Formats: sequence, structure tokens, C-alpha cells
Amino acid sequence: MNDTAQKQMKAVVYQKPGIFALETRPVPQIEAPTDAIVRVTLTSICSSDIHIKHGSVPKARPGIIVGHEMVGEIAALGREVHGFSVGDRVTVNVETFCGECFFCQRGFVNNCTDPNGGWALGCRIDGGQAAYVRVPYAMNGLNRIPDGVSDEQAIFTGDILATGFWGARISDIRPKDTVAVIGAGPTGLCTMLCCRLYHPARIVAIDTDEFRLNLAKKEGMADITVNPQKENPEDILKSLTDGRGADVVLEVAGGRDTFQTAWKIARPNAVVCVVALYEEAQPLPLPDMYGKNLTFKTGGVDGCHCDEILKLIAEGKLDTTSLITHRYPLAKAMEAYELFEQKNDHVIKVVLKP
Ligand SMILES: [Zn+2]
Ligand SMILES: [Zn+2]
Repeated sequence: MNDTAQKQMKAVVYQKPGIFALETRPVPQIEAPTDAIVRVTLTSICSSDIHIKHGSVPKARPGIIVGHEMVGEIAALGREVHGFSVGDRVTVNVETFCGECFFCQRGFVNNCTDPNGGWALGCRIDGGQAAYVRVPYAMNGLNRIPDGVSDEQAIFTGDILATGFWGARISDIRPKDTVAVIGAGPTGLCTMLCCRLYHPARIVAIDTDEFRLNLAKKEGMADITVNPQKENPEDILKSLTDGRGADVVLEVAGGRDTFQTAWKIARPNAVVCVVALYEEAQPLPLPDMYGKNLTFKTGGVDGCHCDEILKLIAEGKLDTTSLITHRYPLAKAMEAYELFEQKNDHVIKVVLKP
């Protein structure tokens, strides 16, 4: 039993393509012994939520509560969840994974073969833009927030920070490398911060938004910024590397031509890590890149290093709080969506407080 029986709550619901609305819903209950119920203390809007709203996430089920980036306090635990207590402050992982299948055992949790595996929360099952959320496989999906780490410091751990951490981890960054990150949106900025953990010589941020480029530079996420509307990224990367090109490229923009930029600015034998999610197919012009011997890695995130991320936050080695540009109560979620979707007021990330 838990303390949430029969209660009602406000939640942001995906009604049908084009329409999100604030609805009253029953507070979720434990359904499986491996579940937890988390009282959400802070949640955020992600660009994937906008993709759902636009109907471009085929798996998203109309009628679900959206939201897949949240922190909170454990309100109830299924009888098979060990190692956590009611009242623990936790981050919630965007991915649901069983921890036991072929892929989970190898750390490829994004490909968990469980029917509920992968990105389920706020997509195929009710998510966290609500006062409470049910978290399946809670022992894998929750991580305890260290003492002294605030909700705002921890909020991105389970989604965009996990993504940046994963992208940087698989990109084989070596000290003295020149790393180019295409896209200075929220995930791009998190990616730059995580690339920094590998001590490259320099991080080059590429984006068409001057405000975001300036933020990247001001916060020390990037050393050099390039606006492709004003200068040629290929020329700049070559000028920085004795004509070779970037040692590592992370494509986090997902724009119309950003994949082409990614392989062009890479030096021969570079790693090109595609973190971005595209709305259209991208051409891979193999004849043009013949002899360049590139290694491509592609998304999505295996979000199973949240404990390590939280430890780095607690140690002051990862700080994403400057990404939070706007704060709203959950009751004003529709206003927050409008601002985020229209990219008004130089918004980077919006957080919602239930
Ligand atoms: Zn997301
Ligand atoms: Zn699995």
C-alpha cells in the first residue's frame, strides 16, 4: 500500500498530434512489484516533447502524460525494489530497462528487449510532467541524488546529460584532440561539458544561434565558436589543426545539412558520433568520403551511467544549471510550452515545478 490512493493530480497530456493540454488525472499506483512511485519535485520540457506534439514520434501514444526528464522523492516502492527507501531523493532515467536481457547485460540498455524497454516514460507510458510518476524497473530507472546536490543541479541527469555523457564516452576523445560539437542547444551544451571531462585541447561549438554560442563560450563549455552563416566550419577546423580537420566530431544538431558538415569537418580516421535525431533520411555520400576512413557512431543514448554523472555533479565537475533559463509552476505548463516551442526569450531549458 502507499499514501497516494485515490488522489488526483494535474498532468500535461498528449491528447492527439498538435494538442497538449493540462488535465486532471488519478495519481499513479504501483502496478508491478518492480515499480516505484515518485513524487515529482522538478521536471523539464525536452525538444523530444515537441517532436511528440508534432506527431513525429510514431511510438508516442495519444492520451499519455508526457515528460521524461524529472527528479523527485520516492513516495511508494514495489516489494521487489531493494536498495531504496520511501523519501529518497532520486533522478529518473529516460530509459526503462530490465537489466537482464542480452543488450542490458552488455550496457546497451537503449536496446533492452523488454516490451516496456527503451524510451517508454512520457512516450508509451505515463511520464513525469505531473505531480507523481510510476517508474517501472525502479532499481534500474532510479538513482539516488547525493546530499548537497539540488534538484536543479540533478534535473538533466536522466536524459540530456546522460545523452551528452554517452556521446562523449563513445567518441574516443584523447587529450590534445580538437573536438567539434555541432549544435549548441541543450543536448549540445551538455555534450560539450561531458567532452571536457576527457581534456581535449579545444572544443569548437558550431551553431547558427549567436546567443547559444555566446553562452557556450561564457560558461566555458566551448573554447571557439563558429557560426556557419558567417564562416565556413571546414575552413576554421582546418586552420586550427594544420589543415587536418577535427579529431572528433559530435553531431547534436539534427538540422537539414548538419550531417554533411559533420563528416566534412572531420579529419581522416576521425570518429563522427551522431547523437542527433533527424526528421528526414540523410545521404551518406560514400564516393566523396572514400579514403577518409571515418568511424561513424550513431544514437540513441545508453543511459546507464547516471550514478557516475551524479558523482561528477556532486564533485563540481559537471554543472548544467546555466542551461535553466526559465522556471514555471506546472499549472502554467502550457505557457512554458509556448515559450519553448517558439524559442522565445533565448530559452535554453524550461523547468516545471509541480
Ligand atoms: Zn528528452
Ligand atoms: Zn533489458
